[in-house]
Amino acid sequence: MAVRALFSIFGVQGDDPDLVKAQYAAFSKQIPLMYFILLVNSWGLAATHIAIAPAFLTIYIPAFLTLVCAVRILYWWIEGLRPTADLDALRALRKANALSWVLAAAFAAWGLCLAPYGEMLHRSHVAFYMGITVIGCIFCLSHLLSAALAVTVIVSLAFAAYFGMTGNLVFIAMAVDLVLVSAAMIAVLSVQYRDFLALISSKRTLLALNEENKLLANQDSLTSMPNRRRFFAELESDHQADHHAGHQVGHHPDSLDRHAICVGLIDLDGFKPVNDIFGHGTGDDLLIQVADRLLRLGGWGPEGEDRPANQTFFARLGGDEFGYITRQGGLAAAVDIGTAVCAALAEPFLIADARIELSASIGIAALSPTDATVASVYERADHALYESKRQGRGEVVVFSKEHGEAFARLLTIERAFGKHNYEDEVSLVYQPIVDMASGRLVAFEALARWYSPTLGHVSPAEFIPAAERSGFINPLTRLLLRRALEDALTWPAGIRLSFNLSARDVSSGEQALRLLNIVLASGVAPQRVEFEITETAILADMSQARTVALMFKAAGVGIALDDFGTGYSSLTHLHEMPLDKLKIDRSFVNGIDGNSTGKKIVKSMLRMCADLDIGCVIEGIETRAEYETVKALGGPLAQGYFLSRPLSADKALALAAADAPLAAAPEVMLAS
Ligand code: C2E
Ligand code: MG
Ligand code: MG
Repeated sequence: MAVRALFSIFGVQGDDPDLVKAQYAAFSKQIPLMYFILLVNSWGLAATHIAIAPAFLTIYIPAFLTLVCAVRILYWWIEGLRPTADLDALRALRKANALSWVLAAAFAAWGLCLAPYGEMLHRSHVAFYMGITVIGCIFCLSHLLSAALAVTVIVSLAFAAYFGMTGNLVFIAMAVDLVLVSAAMIAVLSVQYRDFLALISSKRTLLALNEENKLLANQDSLTSMPNRRRFFAELESDHQADHHAGHQVGHHPDSLDRHAICVGLIDLDGFKPVNDIFGHGTGDDLLIQVADRLLRLGGWGPEGEDRPANQTFFARLGGDEFGYITRQGGLAAAVDIGTAVCAALAEPFLIADARIELSASIGIAALSPTDATVASVYERADHALYESKRQGRGEVVVFSKEHGEAFARLLTIERAFGKHNYEDEVSLVYQPIVDMASGRLVAFEALARWYSPTLGHVSPAEFIPAAERSGFINPLTRLLLRRALEDALTWPAGIRLSFNLSARDVSSGEQALRLLNIVLASGVAPQRVEFEITETAILADMSQARTVALMFKAAGVGIALDDFGTGYSSLTHLHEMPLDKLKIDRSFVNGIDGNSTGKKIVKSMLRMCADLDIGCVIEGIETRAEYETVKALGGPLAQGYFLSRPLSADKALALAAADAPLAAAPEVMLAS
């Protein structure tokens, strides 16, 4: 036990490699200084004794010891040049520790051998030499406490033994002094050494925390997949690499396609309802399983290791959106991965006894060496994803030239819309909605118009999506609603206002509340106002759309489902939403007079509305024949160019004030 304790005091502990390395680094820096002190002091002593002591003591032995020291200095110098990875720090420290005993004994013995020569002053020099040198050396050895201790023990014992025996009171006092000072120094050094250990360990903790932070900052906490930040960092580094390579391969005609880095964006269809129906816990489990399936396709783990070039990088970008990057095989490979993803996610998921079916929409775009930033490729992939969602479900869409043109147009519109003061450039027109039985006007649908100084007239089918993308839609809707209500206030009290809302107006509870306040403050009775919403808006977030619709209804505002039949036309929407009206899309009416299937469809839609006890507007009636056919089927309300094109506010007011039947003499209205 005692031997082991002694060994642990005088030995070098090797169980902590980090500590050994830090000790080595600090120690090796101070070692040349220690040899310098040792040699200067020793030659100083040799010089004062050269005339009175034999040459082997004043020249040969110091020369030999100097040689040994020189070899050690050389050794430390060479070690310092070696790469740190090759160092055997523990061995070097243990060697230094062992050598400290030998050298301390050798130098102490040599010093004491000179003590008998000369007079009192010479002996005092020996004592001074031993005392001052041991203190200097202990300081330099502070990072190898065992060696410092060894030197202290040997020199102090030798000093005390020799000078204590002289019987000279001055020397005895010196011996006591040296022992006490050395002991005090060792005590101070051991406190310092403990601080050094604590510093190393806190540095290590800090590094570990840093690593963990880095990992967390780049990892999605739910699925442990790389997150959005990591996805963009990865894309950025690929872009940099591609940029350099692009200058070499860029001229080859098909080099872009085969070498292009591609981005795929995955959006889960049908995830929102899962959250709504089964709760967020199940939604989370589902996302974890989705991530699992994706990673199995890519084979690339999230542990932060470097990604092999031939593997796909998958990441969760947020919510139910995932993304991937391919580095090899160009667009063809990216499409293959996309198809595999669709197939993998089409397999039903089993979560807590529930069988959940999903599908994925995927948009893909290739990085081009001319792309200034990675944001461009992401935007193109996002646009392709948007197209994929529009086309239907479970589709892979590659960003094409045509998409490029449409996208460029969208961006132009977006920019033009944002740049100018759109308040002065947008206006409203009003299209009559007519009661088919009486042929009389019952409502106007407000339709937005935009005249851009640079682009001319732009259709709302183009600028409303641009306003949605760039975030202008909510203030735009509020502005238009205020103006529409101002106009409606001038109409006879029996004429209602139908007003279109965008999906973004319905998805925000705050915006819905503001719209309602505008209606309530307008002076127009809420019962005269109807909001038209599309199926897409309902589908984006069913429960939110329902909440908002209920709020409108409670205030007396009506809700109409616009463009019915063009979206997913799910009967659940009819059932779950508090609807007052359906607006049957004009595609069903087009040529209905000569089309028996079309007639049957419209007839069954009309019956459904009657059964559900909700109103029905048939949109897009362009000819008398269509009008008569729909009327014969029992259509209650109608809208279309045959009855009237959208009218300016003044003309709308004149029409409302005239209170004449429209359907009776539609040619008059067509001329307006
Ligand atoms: P919507 O709400 O279904 O409006 C009917 C669209 O069909 C209008 O086009 C109208 O001019 C057009 N239309 C009416 N009768 C006929 C017809 O007999 N034949 C044909 N071919 N078309 C007819 P518009 O004004 O270009 O609006 C297009 C869409 O833009 C609207 O479809 C609506 O979804 C949206 N929109 C228009 N104004 C607004 C608005 O103020 N806010 C929002 N969020 N969307 C709006
Ligand atoms: Mg509408
Ligand atoms: Mg419509």
